[in-house]
Amino acid sequence: MQQYLIEFSYLVASILFIFGLKGMSHPESARRGMHLAELGMLMAIIGTLMHKEIVSYEWIIAGLLVGSTIGTIMGMWVPMTAMPQRTALSHAFGAFAASLVGISEYSRHYASLDHFHMGAIGLEVFLGSLTTTGSIVAFIKLQGLVRGTPITFKGQNIFNMLLIGAVVTSFIVLTFSPSLTWLFIIMVVLSFAFGVLLVLPIGSADMPVVMSLLNSYAGLASAATGFAISNNVLIIAGTLDGFSGLILSILMCKAMNRPMSNVLFGAFGSVAESTDAGTEGVMREISSEDAGVQLAYARQVVFVPGYGLATAQAQHAVRELANALEERGVTVKYAIHPVAGRMPGHMNVLLAEANVPYSQLYELEIINPELPSTDVAVVIGANDVVNPDARDNPNSPIAGMPILEVDHAKSVIVLKRGKGRGFSGLENPLFFKPNTNMLYGDAKESLMRLIESVRQA
Ligand code: NAP
Repeated sequence: MQQYLIEFSYLVASILFIFGLKGMSHPESARRGMHLAELGMLMAIIGTLMHKEIVSYEWIIAGLLVGSTIGTIMGMWVPMTAMPQRTALSHAFGAFAASLVGISEYSRHYASLDHFHMGAIGLEVFLGSLTTTGSIVAFIKLQGLVRGTPITFKGQNIFNMLLIGAVVTSFIVLTFSPSLTWLFIIMVVLSFAFGVLLVLPIGSADMPVVMSLLNSYAGLASAATGFAISNNVLIIAGTLDGFSGLILSILMCKAMNRPMSNVLFGAFGSVAESTDAGTEGVMREISSEDAGVQLAYARQVVFVPGYGLATAQAQHAVRELANALEERGVTVKYAIHPVAGRMPGHMNVLLAEANVPYSQLYELEIINPELPSTDVAVVIGANDVVNPDARDNPNSPIAGMPILEVDHAKSVIVLKRGKGRGFSGLENPLFFKPNTNMLYGDAKESLMRLIESVRQA
């Protein structure tokens, strides 16, 4: 009976995970999807707690208290802008847990393991360990504790290849001879080392893809854990996590125009260092009064939010400006670039928080053809995602990255604090174009001033 109840709760959990993921594929159903997935996790936990013979409730309560305290503190204090590094840390925790379970399973059963279970444990420990250290390095880089540019050394490619070769060889030998404990220890140590060396040479610009890939590895490590300890919900949830992470990585590669192979084998490919693009012309400044008049008498205005909108927490202000414009009969749209901000869906989440209707959010392919007939494109703290060099300069490090072609709009107003560069560190020729005007200042303050000007126009 107990076994049936456990399997039933795992089945319900798996179904809820699948519906949760489906819900998360659209902004409108994302919140519901999140709640379904949370419910799924609760069912999985309840099922696991029913394993009376293997569960030690004292340890679980201790883990629950420590984990909940850390989680609550992180949830309350980590700002939205630091979400990528927070996610990296979460991956590290999850992967470390998978790795520890694998090490514990091996140490308890190494004398009696069959080939299949040894293979599953080996994979779990390999992926878990490399994801742990890889995610910690990603965290350190994203937090700015070390420089974000690629950290390389001479002969790194060959060294990394030898290292992964040694890990794979140990894994294969162990699968056939599980009792070689010394080899297991070597495999664990080399896997931890490989995680560090895998992420070190990857520049910050590629970090979102790497994080998504590490997420995928953590998921696959959990799936392997499921095989190792014969737990169905771990197999299903891990596989879902692994493959959704992989699909997301592929989509992000497309959006950033970075070949997956280049990111996967960071040290093997050539990750471009940021270089300056040649720019001509001058940056023209505009006053908020003049900008307000332009907006007030426009037919269509397209807002382009970017990372600066997130740092300034200007999502409510942009909504307020949109309201003021709509009251005057101006059509307002928002152009969303897939990698605007610092994580996938960053802008969607912020704008949803300010109750911007989803129907006003337009993806790149849809809005670009509309930009030439747009009177004013307002770029709010975005830079790389509107850099025309990606389209026009084949030598640019971001050449080929799809961009929002705001330079085709009749007029462009760029809201930023000063002459700071974007994530890629590149100069942006858009700011020097004759149809572009710069409105300097913190995005939120500039938007508040624009609201005033529009109301007075
Ligand atoms: P971006 O290229 O990083 O540019 C942000 C701009 O915002 C900067 O030029 C900065 O200029 C301005 N800014 C910063 N704080 C501001 C404030 N308080 N008020 C007004 N402006 C402010 O941003 P993006 O165009 O959104 O492009 C995203 C970049 O991040 C891409 O290169 C993408 O590949 C990368 N990335 C994306 C993800 C993802 O998954 N979405 C993850 C990691 C990295 P000033 O300093 O002059 O103000």
